[in-house]
Amino acid sequence: MLIRVRELELRKLEFDENYQPGAIDFGPEFRQIGPLHSEGRAELVVEHRGHHQNVEDIRLVGSVEAHLEIGCARCLDPVPQRVNREFELLYRPLGADAGRDELSVTDAEAEIGYYQGEGILLEDVLREQVLLALPLKVTCRDDCKGLCSQCGKNLNQEQCSCAAPVEDPRWEALKEIRGRLEH
Ligand SMILES: [Zn+2]
Ligand SMILES: [Zn+2]
Repeated sequence: MLIRVRELELRKLEFDENYQPGAIDFGPEFRQIGPLHSEGRAELVVEHRGHHQNVEDIRLVGSVEAHLEIGCARCLDPVPQRVNREFELLYRPLGADAGRDELSVTDAEAEIGYYQGEGILLEDVLREQVLLALPLKVTCRDDCKGLCSQCGKNLNQEQCSCAAPVEDPRWEALKEIRGRLEH
């Protein structure tokens, strides 16, 4: 859904959207389970910067709810994650702050981004908000044993035969020599 500045000049926009898995691309590491829901409103904020220079910002306030799966950092099993995030964002036209030292933030609470062309894609905003809400790394449980570094078996499910580290025979020989010297 493209939120157009031209439309916001006429009226503010209320949205209430559901996205099926696949509609928003979260990349290969995240799998969306069930519909993603977002509702909120978009409105125009005009900044007067003097000398007839008006900057048209898009203010976006809303929430996003989603259910995703992320691979466990150790064993790669899917770990469910719920996202329930509220956002309040301000988008300025790209280039509006070029050459300015300070940003005069209209709303101190708002995070600032930039839009290009006609406006912003709600899907892009939601992707970013969901990714920001997710942890960088998850494990399926605190004591996840992970995968065997040699055979790749999931050690939570089965014990493999290569689990015990093999001692280098050269160290054995050295130990023997030292043992003899000490006596
Ligand atoms: Zn795990
Ligand atoms: Zn193994």
